[in-house]
Amino acid sequence: MHKLLQLAGKLLGRGKLSILIYHQVLAEPDPMRPSEPTAAVFDWQMRLLRDYFTPLSLDDALHHLQHDTLPANAVCVTFDDGYLNNLTVAQPILAKYGIPATVYIATGFSHGNNMWNDRVIHLFADKNRQQLSLQGQKVELADWPQRRELTQQWLMKLKYLPIKPRLTEVDKLYQENEAAEQAPLMMNPAQIKQLAASGICIGAHTINHPILKVLPATEQQFEIIQSKQQLEQWAEQPVKHFAYPNGVFGRDFDDTAVDIVQKAGFDSAVTTDWGISTSHNSVFKLKRFTPWDKVSLKFHLRLIKQHF
Ligand SMILES: [Zn+2]
Repeated sequence: MHKLLQLAGKLLGRGKLSILIYHQVLAEPDPMRPSEPTAAVFDWQMRLLRDYFTPLSLDDALHHLQHDTLPANAVCVTFDDGYLNNLTVAQPILAKYGIPATVYIATGFSHGNNMWNDRVIHLFADKNRQQLSLQGQKVELADWPQRRELTQQWLMKLKYLPIKPRLTEVDKLYQENEAAEQAPLMMNPAQIKQLAASGICIGAHTINHPILKVLPATEQQFEIIQSKQQLEQWAEQPVKHFAYPNGVFGRDFDDTAVDIVQKAGFDSAVTTDWGISTSHNSVFKLKRFTPWDKVSLKFHLRLIKQHF
């Protein structure tokens, strides 16, 4: 069956580039993050890419895209945010199968502080708590599905607040519950350097991971350019690729950001808009998608279906 799908991909997939988005690859399953792949799942996914697809580095893929010479079943692997498990769990698996990848890093989280969403998840995940105080209201915590549901509600509630009030709200939730912060989940500068030295391409993803669209152009420029320069210093290599935080064109960023990215000297930028890219797409608005399937045939089918 995989062979048949590979053939279908060869017939239909010419000139089309699939870019996969990952965030974390978990060493062990995490009941609060059921959609993140574990090492075991990521391992067969990468083996499948090696066996039936043509994994390319982003640089090679862009070159082929611009010259309309993409091989069939072309695929790029990308990670957003800069999680430490990209280095400790994903990188050895990528190396084992010889698969190139790009990791887009938000530099403001490289000194021990976790991203606001992970801080919220950590609060609701504490098995020692049967209840939380949320803005003065006592809320009962029960099983994992209920905790996940509540977490999602609070993430949605906080997501589109400006950064400062959002962080203040998360800080308040921690204070209200006398909660302790989780150990750092993101890579520090030395770990970023180590990842770069292993051959993984480092891309920029702003400093504070803001919704760019709601910021004035000068602040967008600061977020985009400073993260590039900081990463170039840490990784000791040019940083040529960018990922828009949250990444939906029109909702999370607009032409102001696209223009800044282009002028800042990046070669490409990826969105989270769902789909494949062809030579007709702007390289500053490349589409991506998340292969969430935990069954190998479904995963394969989904990759091929993108080409229809
Ligand atoms: Zn992100």
